[in-house]
Amino acid sequence: MMILLKQVGHVQDFLTRKRMEKGTLLIGFVPTLGALHEGHLSLIRRSKAENDLTVCSIYVNPTQFNDPKDLEKYPRPIEKDIALLLEVQCDILFLPYTKEIYPDGIQNLKDYDLGKLENFLEGASRPNHFKGVANVVDRLLQIVQPDRLYLGQKDFQQVKVIEWVVARGKTEEKFLPDWQAGKRDPDLSGLKSKIKNPKPEIIMCDIVREEDGLAMSSRNVRLTASQRINAAGISKELFFIRDHWKEFEPETLKKQAIDRINSIPGARVDYLEFCDAVSLTSIHDWKEAEHSVCVTAVKVGDVRLLDNVMIP
Ligand code: AMP
Repeated sequence: MMILLKQVGHVQDFLTRKRMEKGTLLIGFVPTLGALHEGHLSLIRRSKAENDLTVCSIYVNPTQFNDPKDLEKYPRPIEKDIALLLEVQCDILFLPYTKEIYPDGIQNLKDYDLGKLENFLEGASRPNHFKGVANVVDRLLQIVQPDRLYLGQKDFQQVKVIEWVVARGKTEEKFLPDWQAGKRDPDLSGLKSKIKNPKPEIIMCDIVREEDGLAMSSRNVRLTASQRINAAGISKELFFIRDHWKEFEPETLKKQAIDRINSIPGARVDYLEFCDAVSLTSIHDWKEAEHSVCVTAVKVGDVRLLDNVMIP
């Protein structure tokens, strides 16, 4: 059985009652935009395995779409989504109206000082995108108050933004990682012991891929048959990087990868960057980071696809 709730008050009442009944109750939360696929379902399955109750939200958040056409074209197959959630035995689906998420209207967004994360990579290509993400996730967390928050590595920069929002939400300023100064090692898990109010543990889940390597995405359905076949070239390039990084300098590898992806018919690299996997600052030498990540955004036709690989 899955409970479908649309109003904030109902979610809070339901969860408070459950918490009181059980004494302690671990709640896992998976926020999504819907058009669910195996990637989303993997997060829900993991949450189910690790918590007493799993809440999934489906909300196509208008404030994170900088392109109105992208918002308009975003798939919304709600009946299919509900069937999938029933299949994986999700406990609660939160399907809010916009007025529940933005009681003051979508024009009145809170400002989050996301430092360099805000205008870098995805932020540079999609002005105000992360402001919208920060607003919606902060609000959803206020409503659900989960113990664990499940996010996909597929949206790597989004995970960093949400780590930042969560750390900032209930933490003393002095414990915040210093993204703005571009410093490394903001060991967020280490902060937990210093925080009075517990905050959700952020669990970053692996990227689920199609058989040919393409990262699953709700936007993949917008690719034509030939674009869909060609799009597999993006992950192929990332896997080459993951397997051969030691043989090249980052700059050489970056240039080669961009050239090769741009030679895929209909594909255009928006960015491809090697970054420190903790701070998401660009690196130009492997020694600059203990763990790196190669993040890319590629437009195939008018569909923008994101992917990344960890190195090593
Ligand atoms: P979205 O509905 O695209 O906002 O995604 C909701 C959550 O599912 C986010 O945390 C995504 O990172 C995650 N997600 C999306 N695609 C995948 C995938 N292919 N593998 C794993 N997680 C994913």
